[in-house]
Amino acid sequence: MSAKTRRPGTGGSQTPNECVQVVVRCRPMSNRERSEGSPEVVNVYPNRGVVELQNVVDANKEQRKVFTYDAAYDATASQTTLYHEVVFPLVSSVLEGFNGCIFAYGQTGTGKTFTMEGVRGNDELMGIIPRTFEQIWLHINRTENFQFLVDVSYLEIYMEELRDLLKPNSKHLEVRERGSGVYVPNLHAINCKSVDDMIKVMQVGNKNRTVGFTNMNEHSSRSHAIFMIKIEMCDTETNTIKVGKLNLIDLAGSERQSKTGASAERLKEASKINLALSSLGNVISALAESSPHVPYRDSKLTRLLQDSLGGNSKTIMIANIGPSNYNYNETLTTLRYASRAKSIQNQPIKNED
Ligand code: ADP
Repeated sequence: MSAKTRRPGTGGSQTPNECVQVVVRCRPMSNRERSEGSPEVVNVYPNRGVVELQNVVDANKEQRKVFTYDAAYDATASQTTLYHEVVFPLVSSVLEGFNGCIFAYGQTGTGKTFTMEGVRGNDELMGIIPRTFEQIWLHINRTENFQFLVDVSYLEIYMEELRDLLKPNSKHLEVRERGSGVYVPNLHAINCKSVDDMIKVMQVGNKNRTVGFTNMNEHSSRSHAIFMIKIEMCDTETNTIKVGKLNLIDLAGSERQSKTGASAERLKEASKINLALSSLGNVISALAESSPHVPYRDSKLTRLLQDSLGGNSKTIMIANIGPSNYNYNETLTTLRYASRAKSIQNQPIKNED
């Protein structure tokens, strides 16, 4: 490819400001919640994007809290519906040269990994990440007069350290600024030529995520996983290039990490995980209030999400919640968090030359 790529902020066509799109998804009751008889306290009205949370315990408190989002999905919503209604348009924009970001937020056990990755080997239950691979390659295989280069990176943030999941021995990865964007120098990128290539990269990264950790579930609920796709699209007739980038993020569980009875190592871990998620909350609040200072620099996660929140990106937040009273307080926190994120404005710019 000989044509030069224009960096965001130095050119390209800017679209009007656009709010972060916030979608709530409520998972089904688990067998445990059913057997313990914990009442269902969440009502979702998908047609209106409304989520209602009932307080069934404290008679002195307001009985119902009502929230409205860009979309809301209940336990009956399929992976296919969520993808087509919410994600498909965003990936289409990435294929036109925009930056996109989708992040799943919520307490551990509410369905973040189910939503992002889904169930392996089951077409119906496949999650957002493998479906984006299919959409991207369907587009590439159908588009004439274009050359495509698809590069994939995969990293996680654990205890305020970046880990390259495709080259686990890489040391000292940092987030740096370039132009108006951020990037991670030396992050390994693998060129992919098919859906299968991308699935393999995802599997290698997921496997590397477990290395050195005895309890994978515990580890994944405490680390943020970020799957990055970069697509360079060269129009061979006009010799112009567009670049689309997509970040797919499964965040650590939003519950406060318990400090009771924790070892020194666990306390350190808890404070770092709390730091990243509270920094994310502070960034969301600052942007929602149009504060002159947005504390992106307070954590690695918020630095990495700098473009996605308040910057050059089309962004979707999927807030995952559970339906039972057992998690009432965490659910309320997530719904409030998601409400605040609705007013964040981004300035997406098409990366083209
Ligand atoms: P998290 O990543 O937030 O910790 P998981 O994705 O592991 O949560 O989900 C917890 C459990 O709930 C899993 O067994 C998952 O299959 C199930 N689950 C989550 N969301 C749904 C859903 N929408 N429909 C069916 N099962 C779900």
